[in-house]
Amino acid sequence: MAADRVAWRKARIGAITPVTPRVKSVRFMGLDGAHRAGQHVELRLTAPDGYQAQRSYSIASAPGDANGLELMIEGLSGGEVSSYFADVAEVGDEVELRGPIGGSFVWSPEDGGPVLLIGGGSGVVPLLSMLRARAETGSEAPMLLIYSVREAAEAILREELEARARDEPGFDLTLLTTRAGATAGRRIDRVMIETALDHIGKPRHVFVCGGNAFVGTVSDLLVDAGVKPGVIRTERFGG
Ligand SMILES: Cc1cc2nc3c(=O)[nH]c(=O)nc-3n(C[C@H](O)[C@H](O)[C@H](O)COP(=O)(O)OP(=O)(O)OC[C@H]3O[C@@H](n4cnc5c(N)ncnc54)[C@H](O)[C@@H]3O)c2cc1C
Repeated sequence: MAADRVAWRKARIGAITPVTPRVKSVRFMGLDGAHRAGQHVELRLTAPDGYQAQRSYSIASAPGDANGLELMIEGLSGGEVSSYFADVAEVGDEVELRGPIGGSFVWSPEDGGPVLLIGGGSGVVPLLSMLRARAETGSEAPMLLIYSVREAAEAILREELEARARDEPGFDLTLLTTRAGATAGRRIDRVMIETALDHIGKPRHVFVCGGNAFVGTVSDLLVDAGVKPGVIRTERFGG
């Protein structure tokens, strides 16, 4: 990794946009946008008394996005860093940032497909960068996103995802709402994984991202359904 990627640098917030009741899109301007879809950055906040807190956030924007580097930060009640972005941060504020970071949870259009993406909650963020990268480059790699949220209002950029599924040949979306709507009470299960595999064919790449329990459960289901562990890449957000 180049030295300038691991060094902390100042980054100015260029835009803050609510995307769900709990998640805000935060854009940083003036960064070169050179990352691979799936990578993350680290943000560091410093209090007036010198106390520092740093956390990782996946990059949502496609590589090279002229509108700056976009993160999607979910405000967790009592969360040291996410609460700052939920309640305090304003356009023009500076924070410290380093990255992009991450060498295995990445996909580039030249990696081809089929690609199966499975995200829970804010775990969709790095997957969003991948499907945006696919669209930006005109890639025809088959891609299917299974996105699990508690209710539709919590789905990050639902309209963008649905429009892409409608307009971009080869990209399909399965939105699962576990606590409301037609799929209430259902979670990602073996039947859903097998249906996805029937639809997309033998995947060359599988990316699973979300909280610890979500990633563990989905990975086990994939292996049980016959997906080789070597093609499954995971990113755990904690929780
Ligand atoms: C590689 C990577 C990428 C990430 N990308 C994103 C992203 O794109 N968007 C995003 O919102 N978060 C992302 N996270 C999670 C993020 O780094 C922080 O953990 C999260 O914002 C909470 O930090 P905090 O300081 O607000 O809370 P803390 O003060 O650390 O914790 C507050 C409370 O929340 C609980 N908690 C911590 N993390 C989670 C979680 N993920 N889900 C539920 N409860 C949790 C803790 O157990 C604690 O009780 C990512 C994490 C990793 C490792």
